[in-house]
Amino acid sequence: AIRVRGLVKRFGDVEVLSGIDLDAPRGEVTCLIGPSGSGKSTLLRCIALLEEATDGFIEIDGEPLGFGLGPNGERMRLPQASVRQVRAKIGMVFQQFNLWPHMTALGNVAEALVTVHGMPRAAANAKAMAELDKVGLAARAEHYPSELSGGQQQRVAIARALALEPRIMLFDEPTSSLDPELTGEVLSVMRGLADSGMTMLVVTHEIGFAASVASKIVFLDHGKLLVEGAPGTVFGKPRHPRIEQFLDTYL
Ligand code: ATP
Ligand code: MG
Repeated sequence: AIRVRGLVKRFGDVEVLSGIDLDAPRGEVTCLIGPSGSGKSTLLRCIALLEEATDGFIEIDGEPLGFGLGPNGERMRLPQASVRQVRAKIGMVFQQFNLWPHMTALGNVAEALVTVHGMPRAAANAKAMAELDKVGLAARAEHYPSELSGGQQQRVAIARALALEPRIMLFDEPTSSLDPELTGEVLSVMRGLADSGMTMLVVTHEIGFAASVASKIVFLDHGKLLVEGAPGTVFGKPRHPRIEQFLDTYL
């Protein structure tokens, strides 16, 4: 589970997140939606420790991430080694696939197993192969990113994150740079992952996916959590006027 309380993020004078309280329950899919600039990516990046929050705290499965206020209200900061341990629990997939262009699909998935986890190369390759098989790409293991479609590249990126056996997976608009016909194959991999019981927090404009897979929809607006609830409640009528406006824009 992900538990976020009072999360504030400022860039200089600009407050991008204004006190977010969010729960993403274990084994469930939580979808984060909201207009451009509302702070969705920033929230994910704070959870992944790619960005340091200004205030508030985040817990993963009851363990606090490396910043924020401790049990007695004192300011905490974990040592770098612990930050690395925390980060290892979190898998993240971005809109841009961020694959190494000079490595094959297999190499991309195996790399962190060797360099971060110190796994022997042969074992890392075997594990990488198993992960590629799970996303339907075993036959493409020796292909370079430039030889793969966008949907295939994104599936390699998912396999790469899963190889590290994260406790939670964060997705930031994983299909928004894909053609519609390639979006389906990535969503179906994500659906399978959800069925396997992975805890997922997903930023997406794929309302159909959100409505059918998420147990909870969270709508972010101007750095605040505006609406939250089951898909039937959030998308059903009567709708919050901001949700109405959002759906008009994205459907
Ligand atoms: P989109 O749907 O377009 O991806 P978003 O909801 O993901 O939008 P964020 O990327 O989180 O929005 O950005 C929220 C706000 O924070 C924006 O106004 C953005 O300009 C600002 N912002 C994000 N990163 C930085 C940064 N590194 N420095 C300054 N401002 C930033
Ligand atoms: Mg974003």
